[in-house]
Amino acid sequence: MSKIPCSLGSIQTALNSGDLQLTDVVEFHIAQIKKNKHLNAFNSVYEEEALSKAKKIQLKIQDKSAGVLAGLVIGLKDNIAFKDHPLQASSKILNGFQSIYNATATERLINEDAIIIGSLNCDEFAMGSTNENSHFGPVLNPHDESRVPGGSSGGSAVAVAKDMCLVSLGTDTGGSVRMPAAYCGVLGLKPTYGRISRYGIIAYASSFDQVGIFAKNTEDCAKVLSVISGEDPKDATSSKQKIDSYEKHLLEDKKYSIAFLNDCIETDNLDSEIRTSFKVVERTLKNLGHQTNKVDFELIDYLVPAYYILTTAEASSNLARYDGIHFGHRSDEVQGVENTYIHSRSEGFGPEVKRRIILGTFVLSSGYYDAYYNKAKRVRRMIKEATEKILDAHDFIILPCTTDTAFKIGEKIDDPVKMYLSDIYTVQANLVGIPAISIPLFKHSNGMPFGLQIMSKRFSENELLAFSKQLLDKFENDSIPEL
Ligand code: GLN
Repeated sequence: MSKIPCSLGSIQTALNSGDLQLTDVVEFHIAQIKKNKHLNAFNSVYEEEALSKAKKIQLKIQDKSAGVLAGLVIGLKDNIAFKDHPLQASSKILNGFQSIYNATATERLINEDAIIIGSLNCDEFAMGSTNENSHFGPVLNPHDESRVPGGSSGGSAVAVAKDMCLVSLGTDTGGSVRMPAAYCGVLGLKPTYGRISRYGIIAYASSFDQVGIFAKNTEDCAKVLSVISGEDPKDATSSKQKIDSYEKHLLEDKKYSIAFLNDCIETDNLDSEIRTSFKVVERTLKNLGHQTNKVDFELIDYLVPAYYILTTAEASSNLARYDGIHFGHRSDEVQGVENTYIHSRSEGFGPEVKRRIILGTFVLSSGYYDAYYNKAKRVRRMIKEATEKILDAHDFIILPCTTDTAFKIGEKIDDPVKMYLSDIYTVQANLVGIPAISIPLFKHSNGMPFGLQIMSKRFSENELLAFSKQLLDKFENDSIPEL
């Protein structure tokens, strides 16, 4: 099958002129899914249903009544509810579970005629940085199949990278959209906390969780963001802040003031080629008339500890509902309530989820609550204030997304501390609640992609996407230029 256009805008032009049929678009993506099955990106694929939807939407396109996302084939991470479809957050404990309602994000996509093609593999309950913690097995990085795709939304990143869908949704609690986007060479946006409703998203850490978008370009990302953002009476933490048409602002060619986070860049922990790429970007931005400054962020060593104390605490509470009675797998070996809980949870949860529930319960327990949970909350506030201070003086903060390109499957899985430390650059945006994006600007000489991360002020997704577009247009995903 011939390749279809690679942006929603061009697909829609071809659909409207009659040069392309929507079933061709769906068939193209299905063929890609079949060809790349071994990468293990999908937990379920809705082939027949997607094709029959395509036929219905095709008629709407012909009589000009189709929604703004007609032509879009999208995948959902396996923690985003889609009514009457499997939903199990890649966990054994939810084996066979089907959602009885739509997440608000899902509902809004459907209302605008997007076609949902399947549910995407991820770390169990979105806990992980490599997608190795999935009951359905690891997802492979398409650029080197011996390497991880990043996590926890690994399936979502791989599906977009290999054209198995045009756009996908993931969730980002501490980097789960940006990190896999960086490792797989696609764009990954985590919006402001509260920008997209969390209704129908399986909760991991509620004060951090946010739906995020994987796309190949800023236009597609902006279109989907405009549709799924906005206030939702079903989620009290969703924001009333008005939604702009994010796409409209993409062409803005403003000059910005940009802070480069020195402590994250000038460190031996960062791969030296990635470090060089930041120098190239800084010089280019200066030449283009932007103002750049190097700034220090002294709280860097507190980011990962504060994140893991607070998220495990919230997770231990959120995951209490999977007890074999309210929700989830019920053990056969049950006698009495307590035994039902113990056996069902022991059998249903994987090792990383158990570790986090135990850790989270510990930091909340009496005697330790003040020493860990309360202290981490105070540290979160300090991180927030220090970050916002930088953003008061600048439009953007630029930093790496990861310390390295994607590492080998199995390399860190036995060392949780090492694994947690790989989130060093991504958790800051979630601790603060600000939007952040990872964009693929260059290829490393080892052949792997990596991401440049940009953070901005709350609800400034417009500027963030417009600036990302400027950078993406400037560097065409080449190797890193000489300094
Ligand atoms: N790697 C981080 C964690 O395991 C982030 C996960 C996420 O954003 N869902 O908590």
